[in-house]
Amino acid sequence: MRPGGRVDRRSDVVGRAAADRCGRLRLVGADTQAPPDPRILIVTIDEKSLQSIGRWPWSRRTHAAFLDRLAAAGNTTVALDLLLVERDPDAAADAALADSIRNHGRVILPVVPASLVDAPGLTAATSLPPITQPAVLAHADVDPDADGVVRRIHLRAGLGAPSLPTLGLALIQARAGVADEQNAPSGPADAQAWIRADEVLIPFAGPAGTYARVSYIDVLDGRVPSAQLRGKYIIAGATAAGLGARFATPTTLASRLPLTGAELHANVLQTLLDGRAITAVATPWALAAAMLWLVAGVALLRRPRAHQVLTGSVILLGLLGLCTWLGAQFGHIWVAPAPALLALSAVYPIWSWRQLSWHMGALFRERGQSQATLELVHDGIITLDGAGRARYLNSAAEAITGRPLAQALGRPLDEITGLKPVDAGNTLPQSSDGDLLQIATHTLTAPDGTERAVRIARHPLPQDGGSVVAITDVTANLTLTRQIRFQATHDSLTGLPNRAILADRLGQTLAAARRRRQSAAVLFIDLDGFKKVNDALGHRAGDLMLREVGKRLESRIRAEDTAARWGGDEFVLVLSQLDDEHAAIGLADGVVELLEQPFDLDGQPAFISASIGISLFPRDGDDGDALLLRADTAMYRAKRNGGRGVGVFSHEVGAWNKARLNLENDLRATLQRGPLDVWYQPIVDLHQGRLAHIEALIRWQHPQNGMQTPAQFLALAESSGLIHDIGTATLFTACADAQQLARQGFPVGVSVNVSPQQLSRGELPTRLEEALAASGLPADRLTLEVTENGIVSDSERAAQCIATLRGLGVRIALDDFGTGYSSLSLLRDFPIDILKIDRSFVPNPQHRAGDLTIAHAIIGMARNLDKTVIAEGVETAWQSRALLIGGCHLQQGFLHSPPVPVGDIPAIARRVALAGAPTLIAGY
Ligand code: C2E
Ligand code: CA
Ligand code: CA
Repeated sequence: MRPGGRVDRRSDVVGRAAADRCGRLRLVGADTQAPPDPRILIVTIDEKSLQSIGRWPWSRRTHAAFLDRLAAAGNTTVALDLLLVERDPDAAADAALADSIRNHGRVILPVVPASLVDAPGLTAATSLPPITQPAVLAHADVDPDADGVVRRIHLRAGLGAPSLPTLGLALIQARAGVADEQNAPSGPADAQAWIRADEVLIPFAGPAGTYARVSYIDVLDGRVPSAQLRGKYIIAGATAAGLGARFATPTTLASRLPLTGAELHANVLQTLLDGRAITAVATPWALAAAMLWLVAGVALLRRPRAHQVLTGSVILLGLLGLCTWLGAQFGHIWVAPAPALLALSAVYPIWSWRQLSWHMGALFRERGQSQATLELVHDGIITLDGAGRARYLNSAAEAITGRPLAQALGRPLDEITGLKPVDAGNTLPQSSDGDLLQIATHTLTAPDGTERAVRIARHPLPQDGGSVVAITDVTANLTLTRQIRFQATHDSLTGLPNRAILADRLGQTLAAARRRRQSAAVLFIDLDGFKKVNDALGHRAGDLMLREVGKRLESRIRAEDTAARWGGDEFVLVLSQLDDEHAAIGLADGVVELLEQPFDLDGQPAFISASIGISLFPRDGDDGDALLLRADTAMYRAKRNGGRGVGVFSHEVGAWNKARLNLENDLRATLQRGPLDVWYQPIVDLHQGRLAHIEALIRWQHPQNGMQTPAQFLALAESSGLIHDIGTATLFTACADAQQLARQGFPVGVSVNVSPQQLSRGELPTRLEEALAASGLPADRLTLEVTENGIVSDSERAAQCIATLRGLGVRIALDDFGTGYSSLSLLRDFPIDILKIDRSFVPNPQHRAGDLTIAHAIIGMARNLDKTVIAEGVETAWQSRALLIGGCHLQQGFLHSPPVPVGDIPAIARRVALAGAPTLIAGY
């Protein structure tokens, strides 16, 4: 309801109609104002008329008289903007009005929808049938926008169909003689809706009072000249206060004085007369759809930027405004911009949806890529949520933990991995404030019980409080490390601690003993004659024996003691918490006995004995090194005393050891001055009665001790490695001396002893060639004497070396034949030319008779194998004869000559030749 005073039924009707509907056009009508059309005249039922005629409503006769006056004045078109709803109490008055209408010919009466009128039972508020029949009906429906402002009019409206023209249009049609088909809105049309059509915007001419107007009473009383009424479009309507409706239009907003119904229709009339009506495009939604397409197009571009979207929207908005203005101004069409604006406003959600979906797509792609990457790495990756529960496992993590993804999801890490810190105090790395990687090693237990060592790195995810845990399986590394550590500290053959760890344990034992004021002992154990076992039975057997010795030693000691392998056939025991020296000796005796038990080396029985040296803490030394050295010294002494026994360190032993050291120093000093002396022992040929051969034997002229035989220094030379230089020098001297003797007319062969070390080192053939070349001695005059030890200790290399030497033309003699384990098999397997029967097999009349038999058997066998036989150590004529009878005519020994300097050889050679063979034989 519009505020401000009473309203009559009609104004009430129209006002409510406006209020009930929600306006669809919002834009203020085009402000294309035009001057009022002089053809239009408004007749006002004003206060003056009411005063002279009386209270409203008036008798229909008054209106009849009014129309008659107009007809008389020559007016042809008039609209009575009055709703004549009820019958006049005077039926004749209605009839009179009907007559006047018919008489006038072009009287337009308004109609509004019944539903908008308070009169019950009426379907359409129309003039009563007697009146309406001769009249032209028009609709007076006005449709204000929601803000109460009228901007447009529907050219047609009606019940069930838009059959009635609007008042202004009816006036024009009436003047032109065009009549709409009368479609009286009577009858039972309750069910029919009020239909509006052909909406146009009205460019209003101006505010209230724009159009020419005259008072109703002045017309009725003839005070208005006929000329003023003739040819005009007359609209009669109420203007008196409280009568008729008022309408706000865009032109009345400033004056706040609304238009009367008559003035409103006058505006519509003028608009139509001028052809200035602006038609609203019926389907602004088409434009909206087009806009939407555009928007969708923009949104479907790969990725429009926010500023692009904004600029586009502003441009579209500008275009929209321009089009709307142009359409209204020049095309007289009105395109409602709201749908298009609506479509335009959809740009943002569509664009942001596109942004979102693009980002999601990128996210998914990235996720896929990282997942693929995670599946490729060998490390297990587990993501945990804020509560520490697994969210994701890669396949490496599944493999390491032994738990499939489905089983692991949602479980805490500890449960999945069964983690235990490897070292005490090494707990699972917790996420801290810093985002540093935290790494620790743990033991992981798989469901099947297998344990693995893993390195765990935990990286916190600050976004959600979760973390990423990387698990590296370091089992192999750790095993390898342990293995390497074990190998570095343990002997690979026996598995006993090696020297490195022995020093460590010894230090600990001594520290503990010092604290507790207890004694400790170091036992140095050396196997007697182990070399022979090794040589005779092979390395494999030797290894087996060493392993077994290790086991026996370990079985004898207590947990707090240590058994270690020192190297070769040497072992060390560290005994702690000893009461006294006797406890150590008792244990050492036990060890000696234990080791004398037979060994079973792959089914082959073998025996060994041991020499043990003991040193005691704190008596013999305060530190490990001193104790080890002294135990070694004591052991050496025990060995010197024939082996198989226990020696306790005493300072006397220490002194002996010192002497040994001095001797080695002396030998070095001598060798620096020049080679050792070489003496020669003749080998005579009793068949031919001549000196056949000489054997080179080294002699050391010690500055203080006098002449030293090999027995006194050879072991030292071998253990100190000096034997190589000594051997080479002897070879050169022997070759030179033999060649010298040949030049003097004594062409004898020469034998040189070769130590096992020389054979296995491999430089002997070269040295030999050099010696032969230097001396000019023919190779076939040189014999190399090797011992069984020398061959067996490293048979492969020895065989190779011997073959090379023979290839050079020298001959090979097997020395000390019969003393070793495998002399016979050596004869078969090695290219040996000469056998030297050891002194122990040379028969002796005081000895058993079997000796002779054995000597004869050896000689016979050697001859059968086509080897030359030389008998050593022939001291008596009886022996010489016995050997000769046995078939051994090459003999060496004190009987014939002891070793002598080379200068004595010619004399001996002459003497042997003089003596002659028969003499010897005759003497037997
Ligand atoms: P061998 O090769 O068996 O040398 C013979 C040894 O027997 C020599 O002792 C010799 O003096 C001794 N001998 C000779 N005739 C008799 C005898 O009738 N009765 C007794 N009881 N002994 C006799 P020698 O010179 O003390 O040499 C000892 C060992 O030293 C040699 O035994 C040999 O194995 C080694 N040897 C000597 N010279 C060298 C050398 O230049 N190099 C190497 N590697 N070893 C050598
Ligand atoms: Ca020899
Ligand atoms: Ca010999």
